Amino acid sequence: MYSSFQKHLSRELEEIREAGLYKEERIIISPQGPSITVKEKEVLNFCANNYLGLSNHPQLLQAAAEALQQRGYGMSSVRFICGTQDLHKELEHTISRFFGTEDTILYASCFDANGGVFEPLLDREDAVISDALNHASIIDGVRLCKAQRYRYANADMTDLENCLQQAQQQRFRLIVTDGVFSMDGNVAPLDKICALASRYNAMVMVDESHSAGVVGNTGRGTTELYNLMGRVEILTGTLGKAFGGAIGGFTTGKKEIVELLRQRSRPYLFSNSIPPMVAAAGIAAFNLLDKDNTLQDKLHGNTSYFVRKMQEAGFDIKPTQSAICAVMLYDARLAQEFAALLQEEGIYVTGFSYPVVPKGEARIRVQISAAHEPWQLDDCIQAFCKVGKELKVI
Ligand SMILES: *Cc1c(COP(=O)(O)O)cnc(C)c1O
Repeated sequence: MYSSFQKHLSRELEEIREAGLYKEERIIISPQGPSITVKEKEVLNFCANNYLGLSNHPQLLQAAAEALQQRGYGMSSVRFICGTQDLHKELEHTISRFFGTEDTILYASCFDANGGVFEPLLDREDAVISDALNHASIIDGVRLCKAQRYRYANADMTDLENCLQQAQQQRFRLIVTDGVFSMDGNVAPLDKICALASRYNAMVMVDESHSAGVVGNTGRGTTELYNLMGRVEILTGTLGKAFGGAIGGFTTGKKEIVELLRQRSRPYLFSNSIPPMVAAAGIAAFNLLDKDNTLQDKLHGNTSYFVRKMQEAGFDIKPTQSAICAVMLYDARLAQEFAALLQEEGIYVTGFSYPVVPKGEARIRVQISAAHEPWQLDDCIQAFCKVGKELKVI
């Protein structure tokens, strides 16, 4: 059997290569940070989700190291058998406090949080109404549940209203959206979504993976930006981006929802609990952000500086309310070449083209961090200008 399957796989892999979609891994031999070492070469990193620079922050390292010494390496258990330490409970309380929610449940990842949130809560007679650009884990999570599915065009409120009207016969309705859409950096219009939800009697869920720690004056995410903290029934998020970047995810929101997830959510019931050191570093991360607003302020300052300078240089930047800046090049080959030349200049970014973004909307995505110093931002902008002139983009 395997020899014919092997041929089949080789053909599939060849097709991926021919379509120019083959993904290579880049090997880094330093800690994650604004400057990283790739194959003995140092480059400035503008493609990590390390928005607050916490991936290698001394206070997180210390909290993790202490927990490693005092609480050991792994739990060897799911949460409800013997995988819950006080650290896990404390992290859940800390997350609830940060987002102004009632209760929180941890997962091994936000992929798991999204995979395990719909199926236990909704059934055949219910409706999930999902933004077309939502993250893959939301799409997969919705697939696992029996509710009726509706999809509206990205952030299109007329389309959402149509879906809500169509779903009026269903028992319960849940609108689900990413807080920040990772390809454009735009924020979901949560004020309008919540207004429609009230009007058409629906609940709201926001995946804050790219927005938590970033969006809103104190980084509480889209609910803070729109002054809706506590209004949304369900938030999901990751510890793998702004909050230290190790691993872990969570669902936070109404207490009955979280209570039922603890009883029925399959990735929670049937997968290991996060290591004590990750829980301890997570607590340290949220406490750090609670104490003062230095990192959030620095991130916001860095982002607006970068966008302004790039626009002044003549680049076409998608309007952003996050730390994601899409530098629009439109042509797929141009985007690829641009990214390669930037790497030669020591600037690490990613070019995206179809099918990750719509045809004819190829771009380079730049991700800003609080860890970037002004000279690093300037180096990046200078490199963009040099390559931009070379390739006649500006
Ligand atoms: C990154 C991301 C996830 C996945 O988070 P992990 O914790 O890495 O599994 C889920 N949803 C969104 C919107 C994301 O950006």
